[in-house]
Amino acid sequence: MKNTGDHTTFNVDSIRKDFPILNREVNGKPLIYFDNAATSQTPQQVIDVIVDYYSNYNANIHRGVHTLSQEATDLYEDARLKIQRHINAKHSYETILTSGTTHGINLVANGFTTLLKKGDEVIVSALEHHSNIVPWQMLCERTGATLKVIPMNAKGELILNDYDALLSENTKLVFVNHISNALGTINPIAQMIEKAHQVGAAVLIDGAQSCPHIKPDVQALDVDFYVASAHKMCGPTGVGLLYGKEAWLEKLPPYQGGGEMIDQVTFEETTYAGLPHKFEAGTPNICGGIAFGAAVDYMNAIGFDAISAYEHELLDYATEQLTHIEGLKIYGTAEEKTSVISFNIDGIHPYDIGTILDKLGIAVRTGHHCAQPIMDFFKIPGTVRASFAFYNTKAEIDTLVEGVKKAKMMLS
Ligand SMILES: *Cc1c(COP(=O)(O)O)cnc(C)c1O
Repeated sequence: MKNTGDHTTFNVDSIRKDFPILNREVNGKPLIYFDNAATSQTPQQVIDVIVDYYSNYNANIHRGVHTLSQEATDLYEDARLKIQRHINAKHSYETILTSGTTHGINLVANGFTTLLKKGDEVIVSALEHHSNIVPWQMLCERTGATLKVIPMNAKGELILNDYDALLSENTKLVFVNHISNALGTINPIAQMIEKAHQVGAAVLIDGAQSCPHIKPDVQALDVDFYVASAHKMCGPTGVGLLYGKEAWLEKLPPYQGGGEMIDQVTFEETTYAGLPHKFEAGTPNICGGIAFGAAVDYMNAIGFDAISAYEHELLDYATEQLTHIEGLKIYGTAEEKTSVISFNIDGIHPYDIGTILDKLGIAVRTGHHCAQPIMDFFKIPGTVRASFAFYNTKAEIDTLVEGVKKAKMMLS
């Protein structure tokens, strides 16, 4: 980001050249991609790494004596180090490569099966993605522990006084997202982690939505577990990260059994490999992991401060423009919010708006966004969600606003 006097500029034109998909047309119109909270687009730098891997290094890792296997192993382990440095984990073996956020949460929820008992309580927030609700409900079913929910207010912010009241010596675990995918609310996780620790509870942060915007520092946060997906931060699908504090990862049993995760196997007894391999059974997404490392490099080269400042400009601009449309209501108006706008227009189904926008080449998400409890709170079936990334522009937002006006005219 360059400071040019009274306003800042971000070289979005040059950044857009990195994303080949942004050149394509949809329904005869230039693609406007506003579904970044579902998955982000992939820059050429990451695509090149994927092509290079399959062209030059493809081999199974951690077991081969041959050159290809060693080179692939080095690339994969190098990616782990990049991700470790990115999140500021103390040790590389505290960074487990998973298939994504959902996998990481299930791994931890499964691990707590033997650590919880009836009478124990776990706390979730009203703002969660189904991925960060269902595995914990299943855990409660297995163990007899009770699930408590931190409520939110009409702006889509968690009510922290109610959180305080829920915490007690019975609380064993708290899991909350850093940023809500449905509303964009940024939760005060540092404060929430500190409060959970005061009663001796562990905390899992779902960073799926924050990783694309904010560089996490797991040591500064003192978080126990942190999960994210590569595909929401310019990487490929099917790979993600689970950070866990060493002591917790040692305590949790393995999630899946198989190759890679063992030390010795006989039919009488198997001993497990050390971290991180204990949690990485089977052949991993090798290419995906390496490309995840490249995505982290790509985003760091642009810089997360510059990314979030620019995206905030887009958010403010779009909020302002959309608010001028009569009958349009934005859901999620938290003070601390990222570049996600969920909205509806009086009397019009979100799906119909999404369909018309698609005809105009504009990709938005419609529906409940895997967060039905949030929709229930607002008593709506779903919303139209436009989520912006650092490669979007104000001109694209102008087209969105025109498209929404057109949809309103056609549908009302
Ligand atoms: C996308 C998302 C998930 C699930 O991520 P997967 O990559 O589908 O596993 C979980 N939580 C939040 C907040 C998300 O946005």
